[in-house]
Amino acid sequence: MAEAADEHERTMAFAEIALGQIKALRQAATPRNFEIWYAYATGYHPSLNQRINETLKNSGVLAENNLENIYATYLSPTRLTERIDEVGSQVKGEIEQVMSMIDSAAGSANSYTESLAGMSEKIGQSKDREGLRTIVESLVHTAKEMEVSNIKLEERLTASKREILDLHANLEAVRSESLTDPLTQLANRKFFDTTLENAIAEARAKNEALSLMLTDIDHFKNFNDNFGHLTGDQVLRLVAMSMKQNVKGQDTTARYGGEEFAIILPNTVLRSAITVADHIRRAVMTKELMKRSTGEHLGRVTVSIGVATLHKADTLQSLIERTDGCLYAAKRHGRNRVMCETDPEVTAGGTAMQVA
Ligand code: GH3
Ligand code: MG
Ligand code: MG
Repeated sequence: MAEAADEHERTMAFAEIALGQIKALRQAATPRNFEIWYAYATGYHPSLNQRINETLKNSGVLAENNLENIYATYLSPTRLTERIDEVGSQVKGEIEQVMSMIDSAAGSANSYTESLAGMSEKIGQSKDREGLRTIVESLVHTAKEMEVSNIKLEERLTASKREILDLHANLEAVRSESLTDPLTQLANRKFFDTTLENAIAEARAKNEALSLMLTDIDHFKNFNDNFGHLTGDQVLRLVAMSMKQNVKGQDTTARYGGEEFAIILPNTVLRSAITVADHIRRAVMTKELMKRSTGEHLGRVTVSIGVATLHKADTLQSLIERTDGCLYAAKRHGRNRVMCETDPEVTAGGTAMQVA
Protein backbone atom coordinates (compact mmCIF):
# COMPACT_ATOMS: atom_id res chain seq x y z
CA MET A 1 0.00 0.00 0.00
CA ALA A 2 2.86 2.35 0.93
CA GLU A 3 4.48 1.46 -2.35
CA ALA A 4 1.32 2.32 -4.29
CA ALA A 5 1.08 5.67 -2.50
CA ASP A 6 4.71 6.34 -3.26
CA GLU A 7 4.22 5.48 -6.91
CA HIS A 8 1.21 7.80 -6.94
CA GLU A 9 3.31 10.73 -5.71
CA ARG A 10 6.17 9.95 -8.03
CA THR A 11 4.03 9.78 -11.13
CA MET A 12 1.77 12.72 -10.15
CA ALA A 13 4.84 14.92 -10.07
CA PHE A 14 5.75 13.87 -13.62
CA ALA A 15 2.15 14.44 -14.72
CA GLU A 16 2.07 17.93 -13.21
CA ILE A 17 5.28 18.94 -14.96
CA ALA A 18 3.89 17.59 -18.25
CA LEU A 19 0.63 19.52 -17.92
CA GLY A 20 2.51 22.65 -16.85
CA GLN A 21 4.58 22.54 -20.05
CA ILE A 22 1.50 22.03 -22.23
CA LYS A 23 -0.14 25.03 -20.57
CA ALA A 24 2.94 27.22 -20.77
CA LEU A 25 3.41 26.51 -24.48
CA ARG A 26 -0.37 26.60 -25.13
CA GLN A 27 -0.31 23.24 -26.88
CA ALA A 28 -3.21 20.88 -27.46
CA ALA A 29 -3.60 18.65 -24.40
CA THR A 30 -3.69 15.46 -26.48
CA PRO A 31 -2.46 12.10 -25.17
CA ARG A 32 0.48 12.29 -27.60
CA ASN A 33 1.64 15.71 -26.36
CA PHE A 34 1.10 14.61 -22.77
CA GLU A 35 3.25 11.53 -23.37
CA ILE A 36 6.03 13.63 -24.89
CA TRP A 37 6.10 16.01 -21.92
CA TYR A 38 5.72 13.20 -19.41
CA ALA A 39 8.77 11.51 -20.92
CA TYR A 40 10.54 14.86 -20.80
CA ALA A 41 9.73 15.20 -17.10
CA THR A 42 11.09 11.75 -16.27
CA GLY A 43 14.35 12.46 -18.08
CA TYR A 44 14.46 8.81 -19.13
CA HIS A 45 15.20 9.73 -22.73
CA PRO A 46 18.14 12.14 -22.59
CA SER A 47 18.14 12.52 -26.37
CA LEU A 48 14.43 13.46 -26.39
CA ASN A 49 15.09 16.16 -23.80
CA GLN A 50 18.08 17.41 -25.74
CA ARG A 51 16.08 17.59 -28.97
CA ILE A 52 13.22 19.49 -27.26
CA ASN A 53 15.61 21.90 -25.57
CA GLU A 54 17.46 22.58 -28.81
CA THR A 55 14.25 23.11 -30.81
CA LEU A 56 12.90 25.48 -28.18
CA LYS A 57 16.17 27.35 -28.04
CA ASN A 58 16.37 27.74 -31.80
CA SER A 59 12.78 28.58 -32.67
CA GLY A 60 11.05 29.28 -29.36
CA VAL A 61 8.17 26.94 -30.18
CA LEU A 62 7.48 23.28 -30.76
CA ALA A 63 5.44 23.17 -33.94
CA GLU A 64 3.08 20.32 -34.79
CA ASN A 65 5.63 18.74 -37.13
CA ASN A 66 8.32 18.94 -34.41
CA LEU A 67 6.03 17.16 -31.97
CA GLU A 68 5.14 14.56 -34.55
CA ASN A 69 8.80 13.92 -35.33
CA ILE A 70 9.82 13.73 -31.69
CA TYR A 71 7.03 11.28 -30.95
CA ALA A 72 7.89 9.09 -33.93
CA THR A 73 11.61 9.11 -33.14
CA TYR A 74 11.58 8.50 -29.39
CA LEU A 75 8.21 7.29 -28.17
CA SER A 76 6.01 5.60 -30.74
CA PRO A 77 5.63 2.00 -29.52
CA THR A 78 6.22 0.74 -33.05
CA ARG A 79 9.28 2.92 -33.71
CA LEU A 80 11.87 0.16 -33.32
CA THR A 81 9.91 -2.23 -35.55
CA GLU A 82 9.40 0.57 -38.07
CA ARG A 83 13.09 1.40 -38.08
CA ILE A 84 14.00 -2.25 -38.50
CA ASP A 85 11.51 -2.55 -41.40
CA GLU A 86 12.93 0.60 -42.96
CA VAL A 87 16.52 -0.66 -42.74
CA GLY A 88 15.34 -4.06 -44.03
CA SER A 89 13.76 -2.52 -47.11
CA GLN A 90 16.84 -0.35 -47.74
CA VAL A 91 19.01 -3.48 -47.58
CA LYS A 92 16.66 -5.17 -50.08
CA GLY A 93 16.88 -2.13 -52.39
CA GLU A 94 20.69 -2.15 -52.25
CA ILE A 95 20.87 -5.86 -52.98
CA GLU A 96 18.56 -5.42 -56.00
CA GLN A 97 20.70 -2.58 -57.35
CA VAL A 98 23.92 -4.54 -56.93
CA MET A 99 22.34 -7.57 -58.63
CA SER A 100 21.19 -5.50 -61.57
CA MET A 101 24.65 -3.93 -61.83
CA ILE A 102 26.21 -7.37 -61.90
CA ASP A 103 23.71 -8.43 -64.59
CA SER A 104 24.49 -5.44 -66.76
CA ALA A 105 28.25 -5.89 -66.20
CA ALA A 106 27.94 -9.52 -67.27
CA GLY A 107 25.89 -8.34 -70.30
CA SER A 108 28.52 -5.82 -71.40
CA ALA A 109 31.34 -8.34 -70.86
CA ASN A 110 29.45 -10.76 -73.14
CA SER A 111 28.90 -8.21 -75.86
CA TYR A 112 32.54 -7.15 -75.56
CA THR A 113 33.66 -10.76 -76.12
CA GLU A 114 31.26 -11.06 -79.04
CA SER A 115 32.47 -7.87 -80.65
CA LEU A 116 36.12 -8.97 -80.17
CA ALA A 117 35.30 -12.29 -81.83
CA GLY A 118 33.55 -10.48 -84.70
CA MET A 119 36.55 -8.22 -85.19
CA SER A 120 39.07 -11.00 -85.11
CA GLU A 121 37.04 -12.63 -87.90
CA LYS A 122 37.06 -9.36 -89.89
CA ILE A 123 40.85 -9.02 -89.43
CA GLY A 124 41.20 -12.45 -91.04
CA GLN A 125 39.15 -11.33 -94.00
CA SER A 126 40.60 -7.84 -94.36
CA LYS A 127 42.78 -7.28 -97.39
CA ASP A 128 43.97 -3.68 -97.21
CA ARG A 129 45.48 -1.19 -94.75
CA GLU A 130 42.32 0.98 -94.69
CA GLY A 131 40.15 -1.97 -93.69
CA LEU A 132 42.58 -2.88 -90.88
CA ARG A 133 42.66 0.71 -89.63
CA THR A 134 38.85 0.79 -89.34
CA ILE A 135 38.91 -2.46 -87.41
CA VAL A 136 41.60 -1.24 -84.98
CA GLU A 137 39.70 2.03 -84.44
CA SER A 138 36.56 0.15 -83.68
CA LEU A 139 38.52 -2.12 -81.29
CA VAL A 140 39.84 0.92 -79.41
CA HIS A 141 36.33 2.36 -79.25
CA THR A 142 34.86 -0.86 -77.84
CA ALA A 143 37.69 -1.11 -75.30
CA LYS A 144 37.05 2.52 -74.23
CA GLU A 145 33.35 1.80 -73.81
CA MET A 146 34.21 -1.20 -71.67
CA GLU A 147 36.56 0.90 -69.57
CA VAL A 148 33.87 3.54 -68.96
CA SER A 149 31.35 0.92 -67.98
CA ASN A 150 33.91 -0.67 -65.61
CA ILE A 151 34.59 2.68 -63.95
CA LYS A 152 30.85 3.26 -63.47
CA LEU A 153 30.45 -0.18 -61.99
CA GLU A 154 33.32 0.39 -59.61
CA GLU A 155 31.91 3.74 -58.48
CA ARG A 156 28.49 2.27 -57.92
CA LEU A 157 29.95 -0.65 -55.96
CA THR A 158 31.94 1.73 -53.75
CA ALA A 159 28.79 3.79 -53.07
CA SER A 160 26.90 0.61 -52.35
CA LYS A 161 29.54 -0.54 -49.89
CA ARG A 162 29.29 2.77 -48.06
CA GLU A 163 25.49 2.52 -47.98
CA ILE A 164 25.64 -1.03 -46.60
CA LEU A 165 28.09 0.03 -43.87
CA ASP A 166 25.67 2.85 -42.90
CA LEU A 167 22.76 0.43 -42.81
CA HIS A 168 24.77 -1.91 -40.66
CA ALA A 169 25.51 0.87 -38.16
CA ASN A 170 21.82 1.80 -38.22
CA LEU A 171 20.77 -1.75 -37.39
CA GLU A 172 23.32 -1.88 -34.58
CA ALA A 173 21.89 1.34 -33.12
CA VAL A 174 18.34 -0.05 -33.18
CA ARG A 175 19.47 -3.31 -31.62
CA SER A 176 21.39 -1.58 -28.88
CA GLU A 177 18.47 0.78 -28.12
CA SER A 178 16.14 -2.16 -27.67
CA LEU A 179 18.50 -3.64 -25.07
CA THR A 180 19.37 -0.46 -23.14
CA ASP A 181 17.70 1.09 -20.11
CA PRO A 182 16.99 4.69 -21.15
CA LEU A 183 17.50 6.24 -17.71
CA THR A 184 20.90 4.79 -16.83
CA GLN A 185 22.09 3.66 -20.25
CA LEU A 186 22.94 0.29 -18.68
CA ALA A 187 21.78 -3.02 -20.16
CA ASN A 188 18.06 -3.57 -19.55
CA ARG A 189 16.41 -6.60 -17.96
CA LYS A 190 15.89 -8.29 -21.31
CA PHE A 191 19.60 -8.07 -22.13
CA PHE A 192 20.48 -9.23 -18.61
CA ASP A 193 18.31 -12.35 -18.93
CA THR A 194 19.84 -13.51 -22.20
CA THR A 195 23.38 -12.57 -21.16
CA LEU A 196 23.12 -14.51 -17.90
CA GLU A 197 21.74 -17.54 -19.70
CA ASN A 198 24.63 -17.47 -22.20
CA ALA A 199 27.19 -16.78 -19.47
CA ILE A 200 26.02 -19.85 -17.53
CA ALA A 201 26.26 -22.04 -20.64
CA GLU A 202 29.73 -20.70 -21.41
CA ALA A 203 31.00 -21.11 -17.84
CA ARG A 204 29.84 -24.75 -17.94
CA ALA A 205 31.37 -25.41 -21.37
CA LYS A 206 34.73 -23.92 -20.37
CA ASN A 207 34.57 -25.15 -16.80
CA GLU A 208 35.07 -21.61 -15.54
CA ALA A 209 33.70 -19.74 -12.55
CA LEU A 210 30.83 -17.29 -12.90
CA SER A 211 29.62 -14.87 -10.25
CA LEU A 212 26.54 -12.72 -9.96
CA MET A 213 25.98 -9.54 -7.97
CA LEU A 214 22.71 -7.84 -7.04
CA THR A 215 22.76 -4.28 -5.72
CA ASP A 216 19.92 -2.34 -4.11
CA ILE A 217 20.05 1.28 -2.99
CA ASP A 218 19.41 1.66 0.75
CA HIS A 219 16.38 3.62 1.93
CA PHE A 220 15.91 5.03 -1.52
CA LYS A 221 12.27 5.70 -0.85
CA ASN A 222 13.30 8.18 1.86
CA PHE A 223 15.70 9.83 -0.54
CA ASN A 224 12.94 10.28 -3.12
CA ASP A 225 10.57 11.55 -0.47
CA ASN A 226 13.10 14.08 0.80
CA PHE A 227 14.53 15.39 -2.46
CA GLY A 228 12.04 14.41 -5.17
CA HIS A 229 12.13 11.64 -7.70
CA LEU A 230 13.90 13.73 -10.37
CA THR A 231 16.86 14.05 -8.04
CA GLY A 232 16.36 10.35 -7.23
CA ASP A 233 16.75 9.59 -10.92
CA GLN A 234 20.05 11.45 -10.99
CA VAL A 235 21.22 9.27 -8.11
CA LEU A 236 20.23 6.17 -10.07
CA ARG A 237 22.46 7.43 -12.89
CA LEU A 238 25.28 8.08 -10.47
CA VAL A 239 25.08 4.60 -8.92
CA ALA A 240 24.97 3.12 -12.42
CA MET A 241 28.13 5.03 -13.30
CA SER A 242 29.92 3.94 -10.11
CA MET A 243 29.20 0.34 -11.02
CA LYS A 244 30.34 0.73 -14.62
CA GLN A 245 33.59 2.31 -13.48
CA ASN A 246 34.40 -0.61 -11.20
CA VAL A 247 33.91 -3.52 -13.58
CA LYS A 248 35.87 -4.90 -16.50
CA GLY A 249 34.78 -5.00 -20.14
CA GLN A 250 33.73 -8.64 -19.98
CA ASP A 251 31.22 -7.95 -17.18
CA THR A 252 27.61 -6.98 -17.85
CA THR A 253 26.04 -4.29 -15.68
CA ALA A 254 22.26 -4.09 -15.93
CA ARG A 255 19.34 -2.23 -14.39
CA TYR A 256 17.50 -5.16 -12.88
CA GLY A 257 14.50 -3.25 -11.55
CA GLY A 258 13.60 0.23 -10.20
CA GLU A 259 16.58 0.85 -7.92
CA GLU A 260 18.18 -2.57 -8.24
CA PHE A 261 21.15 -3.41 -10.39
CA ALA A 262 22.81 -6.65 -11.43
CA ILE A 263 26.32 -7.45 -12.57
CA ILE A 264 27.28 -10.67 -14.33
CA LEU A 265 30.95 -11.49 -13.79
CA PRO A 266 32.20 -14.23 -16.11
CA ASN A 267 35.40 -16.09 -15.26
CA THR A 268 35.30 -14.61 -11.74
CA VAL A 269 35.46 -16.56 -8.49
CA LEU A 270 33.39 -15.56 -5.46
CA ARG A 271 36.30 -13.88 -3.66
CA SER A 272 37.11 -11.59 -6.59
CA ALA A 273 33.43 -10.75 -7.08
CA ILE A 274 33.23 -9.72 -3.41
CA THR A 275 36.23 -7.42 -3.91
CA VAL A 276 34.52 -5.77 -6.89
CA ALA A 277 31.29 -5.44 -4.88
CA ASP A 278 33.11 -3.76 -2.02
CA HIS A 279 34.78 -1.29 -4.39
CA ILE A 280 31.35 -0.37 -5.72
CA ARG A 281 29.90 -0.04 -2.22
CA ARG A 282 32.74 2.27 -1.17
CA ALA A 283 32.60 4.28 -4.40
CA VAL A 284 28.89 5.00 -3.83
CA MET A 285 29.11 5.82 -0.12
CA THR A 286 32.01 8.24 -0.54
CA LYS A 287 30.18 10.40 -3.08
CA GLU A 288 28.87 13.58 -1.54
CA LEU A 289 25.68 14.36 -3.46
CA MET A 290 24.89 17.88 -4.48
CA LYS A 291 22.01 19.27 -6.53
CA ARG A 292 23.72 20.92 -9.46
CA SER A 293 20.97 23.47 -10.09
CA THR A 294 20.82 24.82 -6.52
CA GLY A 295 24.07 23.70 -4.91
CA GLU A 296 21.96 22.05 -2.16
CA HIS A 297 23.80 19.26 -0.30
CA LEU A 298 21.89 16.01 -0.35
CA GLY A 299 24.13 13.89 1.85
CA ARG A 300 25.09 10.42 0.65
CA VAL A 301 23.43 7.20 -0.39
CA THR A 302 24.61 3.68 0.33
CA VAL A 303 24.02 0.36 -1.33
CA SER A 304 23.64 -3.22 -0.15
CA ILE A 305 25.06 -5.96 -2.33
CA GLY A 306 24.53 -9.72 -2.51
CA VAL A 307 27.08 -11.92 -4.26
CA ALA A 308 26.87 -15.59 -5.25
CA THR A 309 28.68 -17.90 -7.61
CA LEU A 310 27.46 -20.59 -10.01
CA HIS A 311 27.12 -24.13 -8.59
CA LYS A 312 26.95 -27.35 -10.57
CA ALA A 313 23.29 -27.92 -9.80
CA ASP A 314 22.24 -24.30 -10.39
CA THR A 315 19.61 -23.12 -12.81
CA LEU A 316 19.45 -19.49 -13.85
CA GLN A 317 16.62 -19.05 -11.38
CA SER A 318 18.39 -20.71 -8.43
CA LEU A 319 21.51 -18.59 -8.98
CA ILE A 320 19.43 -15.40 -8.99
CA GLU A 321 17.49 -16.51 -5.91
CA ARG A 322 20.65 -17.29 -3.96
CA THR A 323 22.15 -13.91 -4.89
CA ASP A 324 18.91 -12.21 -3.90
CA GLY A 325 19.04 -14.09 -0.57
CA CYS A 326 22.50 -12.61 0.05
CA LEU A 327 21.24 -9.13 -0.82
CA TYR A 328 18.40 -9.41 1.68
CA ALA A 329 20.81 -10.72 4.32
CA ALA A 330 22.89 -7.58 3.70
CA LYS A 331 19.74 -5.49 4.25
CA ARG A 332 18.84 -7.44 7.38
CA HIS A 333 22.29 -6.98 8.84
CA GLY A 334 22.28 -3.22 8.66
CA ARG A 335 22.64 -2.25 4.95
CA ASN A 336 25.68 -0.57 3.35
CA ARG A 337 27.37 -3.96 3.19
CA VAL A 338 28.30 -6.82 0.90
CA MET A 339 27.19 -10.34 1.81
CA CYS A 340 27.92 -13.55 -0.02
CA GLU A 341 26.62 -17.08 0.03
CA THR A 342 29.36 -18.38 2.33
CA ASP A 343 28.79 -15.77 5.05
CA PRO A 344 27.55 -17.52 8.21
CA GLU A 345 24.80 -14.90 8.53
CA VAL A 346 23.45 -15.91 5.15
CA THR A 347 23.72 -19.65 5.62
CA ALA A 348 22.28 -19.44 9.14
CA GLY A 349 19.46 -17.20 7.94
CA GLY A 350 18.06 -19.95 5.73
CA THR A 351 15.76 -18.67 3.05
CA ALA A 352 15.72 -14.95 2.41
CA MET A 353 13.44 -12.90 4.53
CA GLN A 354 11.69 -10.03 2.78
CA VAL A 355 12.57 -6.70 4.29
CA ALA A 356 10.10 -3.88 3.93
P1 GH3 B 1 15.71 -0.62 1.32
O1 GH3 B 1 16.92 -0.09 1.99
O2 GH3 B 1 15.05 -1.68 2.11
O3 GH3 B 1 16.00 -1.07 -0.06
O4 GH3 B 1 14.70 0.59 1.26
P2 GH3 B 1 14.15 1.31 -0.02
O5 GH3 B 1 13.41 2.51 0.44
O6 GH3 B 1 15.23 1.53 -1.01
O7 GH3 B 1 13.23 0.19 -0.62
P3 GH3 B 1 11.82 0.16 -1.26
O8 GH3 B 1 11.77 -1.05 -2.11
O9 GH3 B 1 10.76 0.31 -0.21
O10 GH3 B 1 11.74 1.44 -2.17
C1 GH3 B 1 12.37 1.52 -3.38
C2 GH3 B 1 12.09 2.87 -3.90
O11 GH3 B 1 12.81 3.12 -5.09
C3 GH3 B 1 10.64 3.07 -4.32
C4 GH3 B 1 10.70 4.10 -5.37
O12 GH3 B 1 10.38 5.34 -4.84
C5 GH3 B 1 12.15 4.14 -5.78
N1 GH3 B 1 12.30 3.94 -7.21
C6 GH3 B 1 12.12 2.82 -7.93
N2 GH3 B 1 12.34 3.09 -9.24
C7 GH3 B 1 12.68 4.39 -9.34
C8 GH3 B 1 13.01 5.27 -10.42
O13 GH3 B 1 13.04 4.89 -11.58
N3 GH3 B 1 13.29 6.56 -10.12
C9 GH3 B 1 13.26 7.01 -8.83
N4 GH3 B 1 13.55 8.27 -8.58
N5 GH3 B 1 12.94 6.22 -7.80
C10 GH3 B 1 12.66 4.93 -8.04
MG1 MG C 1 14.45 -2.48 -4.04
MG1 MG D 1 16.21 -0.10 -1.87
